[in-house]
Amino acid sequence: MTGDPLTPRSVEVVQSTDPPECGRCGRAGILSARVPHNLVNARNETVMGVITVVLCPRCDIGQPEAGALIAWFTVNAEITDENLMEAAEFIHAWASAARVPVLNESALEAEFKAWREGSL
Ligand SMILES: [Zn+2]
Repeated sequence: MTGDPLTPRSVEVVQSTDPPECGRCGRAGILSARVPHNLVNARNETVMGVITVVLCPRCDIGQPEAGALIAWFTVNAEITDENLMEAAEFIHAWASAARVPVLNESALEAEFKAWREGSL
């Protein structure tokens, strides 16, 4: 463990042979990562939490950092020793943008729910 609460950019890509399932559209995503973020609990204390975010080629394509990473995977297909450093830059940019404050998360979920019910 090298987790440092002051460096929330320590993103851990989840290694898996199967593609992660996107929690929004229920279809296969490209990549998932565990992203640390600060939570403020009911007693107003800050605690470290970790959220798992999935990069989805359908749901995330409109988001600039995610779009760049999706495009990167389209070109490179997979992470190798040669492109690891380049991939890491895109992954960090995406994961930083993907970090959602908890207070906004329920609002986002409601939005996704409304969106899914309205368009599926
Ligand atoms: Zn999706």
